[in-house]
Amino acid sequence: MELIKIKNLSKVFRLGKERVIALNNISLTIKRGEICCFCGTSGSGKSTLLNMLAGLEKPSRGSIQIGKYNIHKMDEKNLVHFRRENVGFIFQSYNLLPAYTALENVALPLIFKGIRKKEGERIAKKVLQAVSLGDRLKHKPTQMSGGQQQRVGIARAVADEPDIVFADEPTGNLDSVTSKEVMELITSIVKKKNLTLVLVTHDVKTAKYADRVIHLLDGKIVKIENNGELGDTK
Ligand code: ADP
Ligand code: MG
Repeated sequence: MELIKIKNLSKVFRLGKERVIALNNISLTIKRGEICCFCGTSGSGKSTLLNMLAGLEKPSRGSIQIGKYNIHKMDEKNLVHFRRENVGFIFQSYNLLPAYTALENVALPLIFKGIRKKEGERIAKKVLQAVSLGDRLKHKPTQMSGGQQQRVGIARAVADEPDIVFADEPTGNLDSVTSKEVMELITSIVKKKNLTLVLVTHDVKTAKYADRVIHLLDGKIVKIENNGELGDTK
């Protein structure tokens, strides 16, 4: 079943008199449960595309439909609601709150959503145990390695079981061994819970974990590779 439908999507940035075409007429559908990767060198338009899918940037042309939501038409208030209810984010630099423990970093977003504190902490503990950080609940970000911080980031992204997880260069700050561990963890959780993962990376090794790799160059799709059974039909 198609979850994300992207049609004729373009993005032009204007810098004074200069026009930068960041995305040039992209059309694509992503299925529920798919791990889809946008891969390309720096400047190819990956982050712009992901940001538009999350409603963080407006397209210049084209449409984005995610489930029942017409992302390109929604106002900021509805987009905030859409992201809070449906999307988990994993960042290159983890974006953990430095003053808070691993447990708090995962529990606080749940509590902000209206889940009671005790329940939020119970869920956070369970998810952190699932990413093998049960013995690091009271550690703050600076007291953890990069790989451990990213595992907290993963726990935070999936704690509320969102429909979609967006990950922009999730292994960008990690060494190759840790990158492998982190990608195995992300993909195993996503598959187990049947979430949809949209992954962005410049790293071909990281892209290999996807069912489908969409190669971008200068804002255009130049190649599509199918790895998994979900990617085979399109
Ligand atoms: P990637 O994530 O693949 O490295 P980006 O999506 O960040 O690429 O950028 C694609 C292109 O759009 C680049 O040429 C970049 O310089 C340009 N770009 C991105 N954001 C902006 C912006 N806010 N203003 C102007 N140009 C931008
Ligand atoms: Mg980028």
